[in-house]
Amino acid sequence: MSRDGPARHRVVIVGGGFGGLPATRLLARKAVDVTLVDRRNHHLFQPLLYQVATGMLPAGQIAPPLRHVVRKHDNVRVELAEVTGFDLDQRIVHAMVLEHEERHYPYDSLIVAAGVGQSYFGHDQFALYAPGMKTIDDALELRRRIFGAFEMAEMADDPDEKRLFLTFAIVGAGPTGVELAGQIRDLAARSLRREFRTFDPSSARVIVLDGGKEPLATFGDRLAAKAAKELEHLGAELRMGARVVGVDAFGVDLLDGAGTASRLDARTVIWAAGVEASPLATALAKASGATTDHAGRIEVLPDLTLRGHPEVFAVGDMASVNNLPGVAEVAMQGGLHAANTILRRLKGEPALPFKYRDLGSAAAIGRFRAIVSVRRLRLSGFPGWVVWAFVHLGFLTGFGNRLTTLLKWTRSFVGRGRPEREFSVRHTGGDLSLPEAVISLVEPNPLPAYPGLADPIGASADASGATGTAATGAAGVSGATGTTGAGGAAGPTGATGTGGGTGAGSGGATGATGATGAGGASGATAPGAAGDRATQNGG
Ligand SMILES: Cc1cc2nc3c(=O)[nH]c(=O)nc-3n(C[C@H](O)[C@H](O)[C@H](O)COP(=O)(O)OP(=O)(O)OC[C@H]3O[C@@H](n4cnc5c(N)ncnc54)[C@H](O)[C@@H]3O)c2cc1C
Repeated sequence: MSRDGPARHRVVIVGGGFGGLPATRLLARKAVDVTLVDRRNHHLFQPLLYQVATGMLPAGQIAPPLRHVVRKHDNVRVELAEVTGFDLDQRIVHAMVLEHEERHYPYDSLIVAAGVGQSYFGHDQFALYAPGMKTIDDALELRRRIFGAFEMAEMADDPDEKRLFLTFAIVGAGPTGVELAGQIRDLAARSLRREFRTFDPSSARVIVLDGGKEPLATFGDRLAAKAAKELEHLGAELRMGARVVGVDAFGVDLLDGAGTASRLDARTVIWAAGVEASPLATALAKASGATTDHAGRIEVLPDLTLRGHPEVFAVGDMASVNNLPGVAEVAMQGGLHAANTILRRLKGEPALPFKYRDLGSAAAIGRFRAIVSVRRLRLSGFPGWVVWAFVHLGFLTGFGNRLTTLLKWTRSFVGRGRPEREFSVRHTGGDLSLPEAVISLVEPNPLPAYPGLADPIGASADASGATGTAATGAAGVSGATGTTGAGGAAGPTGATGTGGGTGAGSGGATGATGATGAGGASGATAPGAAGDRATQNGG
């Protein structure tokens, strides 16, 4: 960092996503010192996560390292740390590195853009069986489950079990749910053709469940109807007016508008509904006396600052201003507005209110099919897809990423290739967007070199014995939710045995709700689907 001459204005930016990164880039070219703090090392292009989850794109393609993005700017420092709180009076950001080392970042101006997490609407236990899609690890976990389900279907002798593995339930008919549904159907019907010997992959059912009236409702009736038609054309099933009231390892429980209950059996359930602002929104609200809305977003002033703290900005999905939606464009423009306001003030100019320019929205339904809404322009089908493709390529970070994405799309859309689908039954990521209560059960240790971890080998040995400890429950959780059926994938050793995955998961579920242990042990010994279900219900 260049520090010649008088002390420079210090800007701390929390979050290198769609809000934080444009702000960083703009300030990187100015006479200020910028510290970008993120708990991940990469900027994530979330709109294409579903293409990672369905084997089209490699993860790195949509997640360039922040350090690399700002490498040419000496006045920007990137810190890999988790921000935990703020002292707005002293102007200090508190953070932790790997849960054991405290860091403190003094600032003159602060931009917080920490985004949102998954919301299960008060039913965090659903997360054990229905992962969402917010992080790279979420997408890799989904990829493991989706392709794992086809593998398990190949191995299943019982036709009912085969059918269960070939049923994918997606909760939520917004853009994420619809895009994912289209891609799973496309890969089942085209890409996996001739790869399996005991079933026809195109028989896979993909059912999108939503309590609302129509899919992609925010696009308006006309485009929503077209989206529904496209989905049906792809072979996906839409069940609107279906509220999900229960999720377990074998499917979902539903209630319709008239209050009639029903059940959908499915081994893979994906949660594409609901968001909840980063806890940092609440932390900022508490520190400044601001309010939060129903989704936990902090209410900011028209210039995106906090009342009484003109030097603090909250932008993007975690902030609420003028009822703007939680989309990338709002976050990007918000980040740029905050950075520009800081520069204006340094020049002695007053802050201006944030004005959002709506550039429209787009969602891809499947191969060469998309709907686009830009001001009064409405496009669907192939013309919509062309616009969608240009917009997404344009917003990807890095020329190399754009070029290779184009090549990968050609391979998957023109051809049938889904080359990015390697997985192991024991793999799980360390950055799953699960509720706090579930995270400690399923996530592995932060880094191998974590010095605070006492006797990792001994700890693993305990867990592998299915002794009913929390660690055993953890092993079960991933087994339960993993449709691959290999028990204990997420545990320190994951050695709960193959075939017992679902039962073990039941233990994880029990653990998550407080009564750790017993379920994990019994689940670990549960041999097959019927026994798994019994344990599951018992848990
Ligand atoms: C699957 C999916 C598809 C989407 N598709 C579209 C689309 O097609 N079009 C569209 O416009 N929008 C889309 N969105 C929404 C869009 O991605 C968001 O609106 C946008 O990312 C918001 O930007 P943000 O900066 O507020 O948050 P993010 O981009 O999520 O960035 C938040 C950053 O903060 C970091 N962070 C969080 N907490 C901490 C902490 N405590 N300490 C340190 N760092 C922290 C995170 O690691 C992350 O890097 C999609 C979202 C998802 C999940």
